[in-house]
Amino acid sequence: MNYISRRRLLQLGLLTPLVASPFYRQSAAFAVCKDGTCCIDPECSNATKITGSKPNGNIPGISNFIWPIAGAPNTPYEIGDAFGPRLIRGEYDWHEGIDIKANEGTDVIASCPGFVRIAAACDARFVNSGKIIQIQAYKYDNNNNIIQKYRVSYHHLSELFVNPGDIITQGTVIGKSGCTGATWPHLHLEIRKEDVPQNPYFYLACPTVGTHTVAIQSVNNNTNGTLTVELRVTSPRTKLDINRINVFALDSNNNQIDSMYVDFNETHNCGRIIQSNINPQAINSYTYTENIATPNRTVIITPEDFSTTQPNWIVTFKFNGLSSSNTTKIKAQALDCSNTIAEDIKTI
Ligand SMILES: [Zn+2]
Repeated sequence: MNYISRRRLLQLGLLTPLVASPFYRQSAAFAVCKDGTCCIDPECSNATKITGSKPNGNIPGISNFIWPIAGAPNTPYEIGDAFGPRLIRGEYDWHEGIDIKANEGTDVIASCPGFVRIAAACDARFVNSGKIIQIQAYKYDNNNNIIQKYRVSYHHLSELFVNPGDIITQGTVIGKSGCTGATWPHLHLEIRKEDVPQNPYFYLACPTVGTHTVAIQSVNNNTNGTLTVELRVTSPRTKLDINRINVFALDSNNNQIDSMYVDFNETHNCGRIIQSNINPQAINSYTYTENIATPNRTVIITPEDFSTTQPNWIVTFKFNGLSSSNTTKIKAQALDCSNTIAEDIKTI
């Protein structure tokens, strides 16, 4: 929960890019300060350079992923924070994993097989990772060719039981959960495919406790073809696998005139998230420009505080160029990672 994405820090001007691209890619070496704390400055004179390791042998392939904490994601090992946009202590952050509540010293088991790429007191590529393990994992085809590469990271650990280069099988106890680099005991789990963070709920069995909802709160339709729809998406803490939100503009015969959506996975991949205001005191939402060619067509995501029992995402869609006279209904959908759909329809 104490994790602040590097991209966010870059956006706020609190870090300088390590590479030419503003979207930070993992490099071959990283730095750990000699006192064991994480060093975010790779040129720090107190830092020790550590190079990525190679596996010692053949690496078993992935068939599926399992929860890294036994009993998760249900009580008491519920999810503290979901993937994607979140409000954390009054600030907005793009969470690149999920936070699983776990008492200090809880066994952390490998979600998938692979080799240990990182097992360290910290890793400069992740802000406040604390003790971290990262597993490099592969999916093979029938001829043992690699078809997908994953990196699965476990943050804030209290103990590490593996070393870089170790090959591990799914279910191996690789360490103990903890609170290093965090303000409360939890496991931050991050699944990257081809180095892009994914919503972990696409890979882990999703809970079916409770249902999510979507409600159309308001529709403003003006004569210039600009139509603004505000939604509230709500999900109980036991089911934080919301990923996609659709809005359809319909005519009186229920024919679709236009549509917009936001997909937390895609939004991250597109790298088109723009904070509405670069002043960290005044950030109140994420603005996602769906189509660069029509910049006035935007989605604004405003997550509410995750500490409540029913976290909400307020999502505003701004259509542009619609014929207002034809649009008579709005249909909104919220989809979880299992494609379970909640829906609301409003006549305007
Ligand atoms: Zn986290």
